[in-house]
Amino acid sequence: MTSNVIRPADIRDVAVIGLGLMGSGIAELVARSGRRVVAIEISQSFLDQGMARLRASLDKAVTRGKLTDTAREEILARIRPVHDIAAGVADADLVIEAIPERMELKRTLYAELDQACRADAILATNTSSLSITEIAGGTRHPARVAGLHFFNPAPVMKLVEVISTVLTSPDTAEALALVARDLGKTPVQVSDRAGFIVNALLFPYLNHAVRLLETAQATREDIDKAAAVGLGLPMGPLTLLDLIGLDTSLAILEVLQAEFGGTRYAPAPLLRKLCDARLFGRKSGRGFYDYRHSTPATTAEDHDLVSAPVPGEVALIKDQDGLLDELASQITAAGISVLPQPSPETGLIIVAADPKHRVLDAALAVGHPADVVGIYFTGTGDGKPGLAELVLPDVTAAATRAKAVALAARLGLHAVTSPDRPGFLTEALAFAQFNDAVRMVQEGFASPADIDTAMMLGCGYPRGPLQMLDDAGPANVVTVLEAMHTTTGDPAFTPVPLLAEYATAGTRFRS
Ligand code: NAD
Repeated sequence: MTSNVIRPADIRDVAVIGLGLMGSGIAELVARSGRRVVAIEISQSFLDQGMARLRASLDKAVTRGKLTDTAREEILARIRPVHDIAAGVADADLVIEAIPERMELKRTLYAELDQACRADAILATNTSSLSITEIAGGTRHPARVAGLHFFNPAPVMKLVEVISTVLTSPDTAEALALVARDLGKTPVQVSDRAGFIVNALLFPYLNHAVRLLETAQATREDIDKAAAVGLGLPMGPLTLLDLIGLDTSLAILEVLQAEFGGTRYAPAPLLRKLCDARLFGRKSGRGFYDYRHSTPATTAEDHDLVSAPVPGEVALIKDQDGLLDELASQITAAGISVLPQPSPETGLIIVAADPKHRVLDAALAVGHPADVVGIYFTGTGDGKPGLAELVLPDVTAAATRAKAVALAARLGLHAVTSPDRPGFLTEALAFAQFNDAVRMVQEGFASPADIDTAMMLGCGYPRGPLQMLDDAGPANVVTVLEAMHTTTGDPAFTPVPLLAEYATAGTRFRS
């Protein structure tokens, strides 16, 4: 069988339609690769705005010493701004569309492209959530229509998702993957399914974090710290939602919910309420956090907790694995007595917590449940200080909690408080996402390697979710998920069959 794959060298003329946030970055990237770019906008004023954004980005590169003045001028000379679509796309080998995320706009545009483009031109849409099949279905040459999903900012982010519909020819998908590589990106190829890889995994996780907040399981700061310190992610989920925009996030969840159903994608009521209140995140000055003041406001409760007196003595109940030995040394080094068993005066008893089991049982065994706090250390294993989750059964007294928080502050631990629920904060958030990732593998949508690449390059994960799953141990993940399912009754936490099978067989997803 002969292949008609267009090589990257054959793609010399590229039309970028829509010079907004994404299009201006894509036009810059393509022009930097030495190709001629026609940059198309609906009006001269939008064209001017888009070109100004593009120039500012190049100027920044020059200021930082990453681009010479001459190179900037050569890149700009390769870009021809126009506002006549038909004339602009006539000679294009490849058209990249980045107009607003509205199906009626895209369909109207593609009808126009059908008439104006060469019959052999590839048409690629940068849509994040619309059906590419529906966009392609209205064109005369749907075999040459595909998705080319860049991440923001396009010149910087390394990932590109190349999306094929049932009508896209393999040659078209292959050509786009090769061009993406030639632009210095790492492509992953998937079929046309809501959210592709990255958004389909990211948004249910973000939604889960909102649910933890709205059900009073943790503060917004602790939820964010659990993900940033415990999982090593670039930022916590609530901070990320504020950055993406809560309205955009709600819209993406609604698309995912319409396609897949189930509880993971059903937008958390709090997310909807914040949108109703027009608190869209950073862009509107307020979302989960308030950006109208330079320093984030701390609550009176936070202040009371950290300023509570540090106890003079702490009972540390020894565990078989020696998980608390280092903590015992740290407490002693801070001049606080460590007792192996509580005395009648001991107001704080620490036990080793295990996300698979309730701390409550250990607290009852110790005999003073109101004085007991569980502690669970988690981290990325990369030498950075990990996270200490202070786990509080409902019977733990408020004063005990305050002592534990004050002690953690004295020891300089990165600490969060979590209720005594399976997985606590970090593993509950992470393991549910691992389950979603395995479901994607099970359904044949993406390979473990592509999923990990997509989340590392698209979201800045230090390790991909399936690598993290392997490191945590599939059997361990299954036990925590089953406990989450039992406690919440939410079927979304049921380990997917492939995960359960790998756990039983001791198989790893990334070998
Ligand atoms: P944007 O609103 O910043 O830019 C869209 C631009 O398209 C505007 O400048 C508008 O004037 C122009 N436009 C509208 N109709 C047009 C037409 N018919 N012809 C030419 N230009 C037209 O939007 P954006 O954030 O750049 O998003 C563009 C696309 O990229 C959307 O499909 C979006 O889902 C996708 N996307 C966005 C992001 C992101 O982080 N913003 C990330 C990945 C993908």
